[in-house]
Amino acid sequence: MRIVLLGAPGSGKGTQAQRLAERNGIPQISTGDLLRAAVARGTALGLAAKAAMEGGRLVDDALVLGMIRERLGEPDVRAGFILDGFPRNLIQAAALDGLLAELGQPLDAVVQFEVDSAELVRRISGRRSCADCGRVFNVLTSPPPTGAAAMCPGTGAPHRLIQRADDNEATVAERLRVYDEKTRPLIDFYRARGLLRTIDAAGEVNAVTQRLARALAPAAPAAAARVRKGAAKSAARAKSAARAAKSRRPGTRATARRAKSARKKTPARAARKKHAAAMRSRRSGARRRTRR
Ligand SMILES: [Zn+2]
Repeated sequence: MRIVLLGAPGSGKGTQAQRLAERNGIPQISTGDLLRAAVARGTALGLAAKAAMEGGRLVDDALVLGMIRERLGEPDVRAGFILDGFPRNLIQAAALDGLLAELGQPLDAVVQFEVDSAELVRRISGRRSCADCGRVFNVLTSPPPTGAAAMCPGTGAPHRLIQRADDNEATVAERLRVYDEKTRPLIDFYRARGLLRTIDAAGEVNAVTQRLARALAPAAPAAAARVRKGAAKSAARAKSAARAAKSRRPGTRATARRAKSARKKTPARAARKKHAAAMRSRRSGARRRTRR
């Protein structure tokens, strides 16, 4: 799955990208994160990026493209990726097209997040991220969880919430203006390529997650549902046959054979297990990278 999430600052695409990445075991690639890492390292590029970001301006295309090219060359990207905050203008979009063609990895979809601007301003003012693990929260719409599960995977202590320098009211209006001018044209760019899907990104976070999943589902949802139903049935058959085999009634051997063959028909279970293991290892890998 290779997708781009398109939306104004505050549209919630960062939160949704995070969820999508976890669910699919593929990395979320945010130019914001790549830039902030460069700023934290204090490189010349990082310092230039810092000045631009604090003024609410866009960072130089060549700098961003270089970072993206490097990131898309890393091994965890082979199974797919979610681009969040890139491309931001037509020059970047065209360059991304060329880069992905070069890599033989064209985009599968571009999802546009629609939210009205009053709601965007409100959401941005509530946005916080953890200084230790980089997770994004919103004190208004998606506060950090409480209780035992609330600990930061980076430190084991509660998340350390900070507000980004460019999330203050003075720069938000400028960022929205820049988005309308530079990024909105991408909607037509991707529509013309048959890649665009638009979702209503207002309202509750879980509802938006569902809308996003529907937008990314294959074109024939009825067929997919039939496949799922079939897999569930054969899994149920395997279970009941295995139970019967365990109880050692007469005919046990035949029942056990049936159980074995029914189990073979459920590759979904093996695939799920494999996927969960892959996600665990990728997630811990992602943590190592972001901590740097
Ligand atoms: Zn944290």
